[in-house]
Amino acid sequence: MRSFGTTIFAEMSALAARTGSINLGQGFPDTDGPPAMLERAIEAIRAGVNQYPPGPGLPELRQAVADHRMRHYGLAYDPDGEVLVTVGATEAIAASVLALCEPGEEVIAFEPYYDSYAASVALAGARLVAVTLRPEGGRFTFDPAELRAAVSPRTRAVLVNSPHNPTGTVFTRQELEQIAAVCRDHGLVAITDEVYEHLVFDGVEHIPLATLPGMRERTVMISSAGKTFSVTGWKTGWICAPAPLVRAVQTVKQFLTFTAGGPWQLAVAHALRHELAWVAALRESLESKRDRLMEGLTAAGFGVLKPLGTYFVQTDIRPLGHADGMEFTRSLPELAGVVAIPTQVFYDHPERGRHFVRFAFCKKDEVIDEAVTRLKRLSTR
Ligand SMILES: *Cc1c(COP(=O)(O)O)cnc(C)c1O
Repeated sequence: MRSFGTTIFAEMSALAARTGSINLGQGFPDTDGPPAMLERAIEAIRAGVNQYPPGPGLPELRQAVADHRMRHYGLAYDPDGEVLVTVGATEAIAASVLALCEPGEEVIAFEPYYDSYAASVALAGARLVAVTLRPEGGRFTFDPAELRAAVSPRTRAVLVNSPHNPTGTVFTRQELEQIAAVCRDHGLVAITDEVYEHLVFDGVEHIPLATLPGMRERTVMISSAGKTFSVTGWKTGWICAPAPLVRAVQTVKQFLTFTAGGPWQLAVAHALRHELAWVAALRESLESKRDRLMEGLTAAGFGVLKPLGTYFVQTDIRPLGHADGMEFTRSLPELAGVVAIPTQVFYDHPERGRHFVRFAFCKKDEVIDEAVTRLKRLSTR
């Protein structure tokens, strides 16, 4: 793990704190989740739900997850054996990769990718093979031939994140069908990170890969409460998969953390049943924040790529006369009092993302407005 060091988020959040900059780097909301859900967690603590929950998770949450999958996607999972509660999506990803990939095997992921993927693959002694997402027609997408070429006899799994952090791409049915075909043709497991499943804009539909023909039986579907209900600090996630896959993942999970926090599980079970109207309002609010930030960044001189989901907008810094996102974001606190994330850190081929910088818009309107005011100084210097 020596090559991993500290994450870019730790570096940039520390830089924001040290310089008093506005932090549009790390993706966490600056407002709270649904009040009734928060109240449920407090009630659970007061009611004594404070000892180890069962390893697979509390039955209330497993049932709520199964019901939610059925209601939203028509996917049937047995809450006893096909649903496992985890410590956030992060543990779900790590435990899945550790459980399903042997040392020397390969895992395909689309770059730029969420930073825990490479670390999880390294912990498993496996090798990550990156397929690059490139801007085309205003959104990031992949070349299906490149995906097929990435498969080798050692390939075991494909990690699929849609809606995609950090590009904001929501894979279309056609793109998902291309991924599914590769998985079916080569007997691969799909590990899907769907933590932004509800945060999609402009009426776009999130399609779980597991709903495609022949995919439910080979997919480990991962999600989490953090992004959906604005409680990134609760670290409550889950996987849904066929029983043999869940058993394998739980075998690893029991020695990572054994179980996940109890009070949050009851509160999230409530939220999955009763707070989806709150989530719809969050989605609308985020869509308008996206537009607000995009407009501001465009006026400030950035090239802006429109995201259809997530918390993030990708910008091209070349129109501002900069070439390297790492240099740019390290000097941005001094230049403008704003912190952002250099997208190149999410690539195996950093040169392919050198000129992209990621900004988060899951922030109060006044915070976005102040950041934009400051960023407009860049083009008038
Ligand atoms: C935030 C995030 C996660 C982590 O989810 P937790 O539930 O906080 O562990 C995983 N994947 C992606 C793409 C994310 O953006």
